Amino acid sequence: MPTSLEEACQLLSSDPRNHVALGGCCWLRLGSRRIRKAVDLSRLGLDYIREEEGWLVLGASVPLRQMEIHPAVTGRFDGLLGRAVSSIVGVQFRNLATVGGSVYARFGFSDVITALLALDARVVFHRAGEMSLEAFLSSDGCPGDVLVEIRIPDDGRRAAYESVRRSSTDFPVLAVAVSRQGDDWRVSVGARPYAAQRSSEAEACLAQRRGAQAAGEAAAAQLRFGSNLRGSEEYRRRMAEVLVRRAAQQLEEEQG
Ligand SMILES: Cc1cc2nc3c(=O)[nH]c(=O)nc-3n(C[C@H](O)[C@H](O)[C@H](O)COP(=O)(O)OP(=O)(O)OC[C@H]3O[C@@H](n4cnc5c(N)ncnc54)[C@H](O)[C@@H]3O)c2cc1C
Repeated sequence: MPTSLEEACQLLSSDPRNHVALGGCCWLRLGSRRIRKAVDLSRLGLDYIREEEGWLVLGASVPLRQMEIHPAVTGRFDGLLGRAVSSIVGVQFRNLATVGGSVYARFGFSDVITALLALDARVVFHRAGEMSLEAFLSSDGCPGDVLVEIRIPDDGRRAAYESVRRSSTDFPVLAVAVSRQGDDWRVSVGARPYAAQRSSEAEACLAQRRGAQAAGEAAAAQLRFGSNLRGSEEYRRRMAEVLVRRAAQQLEEEQG
């Protein structure tokens, strides 16, 4: 249980393959991986939520549940972050699973990453420093490092979230987050089943006011989809068209 970020990084980087940081441990405990050293981050005080000048900042140890109930989070982006996590397993689970573990693990199915990407979030590592979430997703990751916080531009944008699931608390078959500030739109599609990605074509459609339907079609045409036990590539492509259209329509109707 290190008491400083530097100490945590030293412990992790001495053997990054076998020494792991513990988030809420919800995913880690499912596996059969042998862990030589488990580095508990709970004494680092990373469970803060801060409203800074122009930023909403979530410490890596913030439980997902806080994204549903903390007023600083629910009061922004039309409650996007709370909506994105509300179907993940159950309340007791969401009291344990952390935003840091969710981002660091870069799951393809992640509702959390899908939503954060539509808000242009940034991630801060102790050693690697700050980078966009998008850059982190396309990097080789940061083994041996500690994710410290997630920084979200607090620019007053509106946002909508849509996902389709085979049952209410299952992993998403597809997840979509759309955000808007005037004519600046962001469209993020996750669980394709690959990790969430933005659709620049859909964003351009919306910026040029070509409509939600055109944006849905553009996202379906631009992004890569795949099949797994939850859905086929073709089903996901069709759902992307529908969910992007629905999410964009909500924001068109609200802002005109
Ligand atoms: C049954 C089940 C169903 C789920 N369903 C969904 C779903 O529908 N949608 C969804 O979005 N997610 C889902 N998840 C994922 C869940 O929301 C969390 O993302 C997941 O449990 C990881 O968070 P954690 O805090 O438990 O991390 P852990 O399991 O503790 O860690 C996950 C990984 O991140 C590393 N790590 C954790 N914190 C840090 C840090 N600060 N710095 C560096 N490395 C770190 C760990 O070493 C490990 O490699 C599900 C998980 C489970 C177990």
